[in-house]
Amino acid sequence: MGLWAALKAERLGIDTLLVDAGPLAQGASGGLLGALMPHMPDKWNDKKQFQFEALLSLEDEVRALEAETGRSAGYRRSGRLIPLPKPHLRTIAERHEREALVNWRAGDRSFRWNAIDASPLGPDWPTPEVAGAGLVHDTFAARVSPRGLTGMLVERLRRAQHVRIVEGCGVESIEGTTARLSDGTSVAFGHCILSAGHRSFPLLEMLGPPLARPLGQPVKGQAALMKGDIDPDLPLLYLDGLYIVPHEGGLAAIGSTSEDRFDDPFSTDGQIEDLIARARVLAPVLKSAVVVERWAGLRPKAIDRDPMVGPHPDNARVVALTGGFKVSFGMAHRLAEEALGAVQDRPMTMPAGFQLASHIAVATRNA
Ligand SMILES: Cc1cc2nc3c(=O)[nH]c(=O)nc-3n(C[C@H](O)[C@H](O)[C@H](O)COP(=O)(O)OP(=O)(O)OC[C@H]3O[C@@H](n4cnc5c(N)ncnc54)[C@H](O)[C@@H]3O)c2cc1C
Repeated sequence: MGLWAALKAERLGIDTLLVDAGPLAQGASGGLLGALMPHMPDKWNDKKQFQFEALLSLEDEVRALEAETGRSAGYRRSGRLIPLPKPHLRTIAERHEREALVNWRAGDRSFRWNAIDASPLGPDWPTPEVAGAGLVHDTFAARVSPRGLTGMLVERLRRAQHVRIVEGCGVESIEGTTARLSDGTSVAFGHCILSAGHRSFPLLEMLGPPLARPLGQPVKGQAALMKGDIDPDLPLLYLDGLYIVPHEGGLAAIGSTSEDRFDDPFSTDGQIEDLIARARVLAPVLKSAVVVERWAGLRPKAIDRDPMVGPHPDNARVVALTGGFKVSFGMAHRLAEEALGAVQDRPMTMPAGFQLASHIAVATRNA
């Protein structure tokens, strides 16, 4: 999210210092999965509309960056298949099919949530055993290579005119318009966009009066990458929290665990082996695929799971840009624009529930 903010600042000609505690793009965004999953097409609201438009505009953002850098983000609107094991799920899917016709539209483009009887791709993608009542074919879902996209952003930023990069040096605290860094130096800023993943929460909590509960927490996730005879055109598969995301080069990412409690944030264990085993049952083509990487990271989960963006009520020069939890990749570019809007005093166009001030109100009220 911070890389997108720096890129948007560069395009606006804003003099920017990009400070990262580690090497760039090695946090949660340096992972494997890259699923760009829309919210369900039912119960439409401003949050779903914002995400829908963001997922759509990411196409153009990626194309522009690919043209600028000559690199690939591994982006593709592959669609998604969701098996329906039970008949009542088919009834719900058919309702959603009608709702998608209304809600998944923009200009002359529209996307489907079609209830179908069998996979058009045969018994290997997915196994018919889990699709007793058919499947959903969602034509809106897409995927991107997390490292492809972040690598492209980093390369573009290393050539930026208005952005200077400092790596291996974290922000330890912020007071007024001064940030104290881990190397003992201080930086005075006009505005500070705070986009430190889950580490943003404690830094933001320091800026105002004590809260009744934390603004957010890290949630560990484990994922794996498999290589085999996997067509990059295949749609994503999703069943009961298990994602299979085909990528370029015969690769498919498998994920993810969701762990509120953990001893080691970056180790992998039997939980990812269970997911790999489930993936091989769901998509038999993976039986002969080999695991080439296992990976774990910490997602930034804000108090109510929504993104946390905008000026701090007690220090408007500090602008949050965090809390994307499980959907950051599809929205980071748009949320970064909102953060820059706060810097430039432009009116907010995102849902009020995404604002840092709303999260703080909740954290103040609820013990
Ligand atoms: C297993 C797994 C699977 C996932 N799958 C998906 C998916 O399919 N689709 C999707 O959209 N999302 C997915 N996510 C979520 C997504 O990866 C995260 O929400 C997203 O990467 C968060 O981005 P971020 O920029 O907020 O944080 P990060 O990527 O963690 O970046 C934070 C940066 O801040 C730096 N930093 C930390 N502290 C400081 C400090 N004090 N000072 C300066 N710099 C600091 C870090 O070094 C890091 O570079 C997944 C996450 C996990 C763990």
